[in-house]
Amino acid sequence: MEELYFTFAHQKRLQYGEKVYKLPVNLPATCPNRDGTKGWGGCIFCGAKGTGFENLSSSLPVREQLARNRAYIGPKYKARKFIAYFQNFTNTYFPAEKMYAYTREAAQGEGVVELCFATRPDCVGKEVLSAIREGAAGKGVCIELGLQSVNEETLRRINRGHTVEEYVEAVKRIQAFGFQVGTHLILNLPWDGADMARKAARLISGLKIDTVKLHTLYIEKGTELGRLYQEGQIQICSPGDYVQRAADFLEGLRPDISVQRLASRVPNGDTIFCNWGMGWWRIRDEICRELEKRGTRQGERWKEAR
Ligand code: SF4
Repeated sequence: MEELYFTFAHQKRLQYGEKVYKLPVNLPATCPNRDGTKGWGGCIFCGAKGTGFENLSSSLPVREQLARNRAYIGPKYKARKFIAYFQNFTNTYFPAEKMYAYTREAAQGEGVVELCFATRPDCVGKEVLSAIREGAAGKGVCIELGLQSVNEETLRRINRGHTVEEYVEAVKRIQAFGFQVGTHLILNLPWDGADMARKAARLISGLKIDTVKLHTLYIEKGTELGRLYQEGQIQICSPGDYVQRAADFLEGLRPDISVQRLASRVPNGDTIFCNWGMGWWRIRDEICRELEKRGTRQGERWKEAR
């Protein structure tokens, strides 16, 4: 893979001199797009459990979650360095004092070299970023922003509650703090055409973000997206089309932006639709085969465009 695209594992090996593993941390977080501050009900694909299906209970202290996950992951992969990964819901949607306390506790975890917060572009004000900087006490910080689409109309339809411009402003604000920035995208949202992948690659390459995560759209039971799908109101592109879009995206992406994932990994039990019934690794392999067939790799078109 590493010769076709710049993997996250490779990026971290270059940064920290050895393999680095993520340890999930589950905070008692909610989301302004669910609690009425920004909107009710959340994004139309967001399930009641959020995305952290592998997480421990949020009632456990941060240090205990880290210790338990390290006790499992450390010996299994002979890992010594870790990223404390705050994954579920909106992990910077806390008052500054709480944000500082969570960050501080995680930064003191054994072997923790970096802290990573998944969040929304409208929840990274200067106050909260200052609290993270103080709490991190010199450890690496990455803020992963959910963007999902660079198409404003799609953002409106999926009820994201923020614009592309807010995302761009958030990236600049985070970078001014010296933090790394990650971006989550879904390349097969029903309202996005094939051109969206290239457009997204152009935008995030121009912003020089550090890492990107591609999700394939999965549809959970009980969501608004599930209703639209079951009523036949939306259609999802074929796996072949997704492979083309992901290959287009990688070709247009700066070669020094790492790629964390090319398809979603979700337990099938909770979903009505997921990865066309294929394993995420098979989709990744198909994308790599497509790049090989084209004789290209990550950044080929980005170089041409320059
Ligand atoms: S921003 Fe994230 S947590 Fe909030 S509703 Fe959307 S997907 Fe769910």
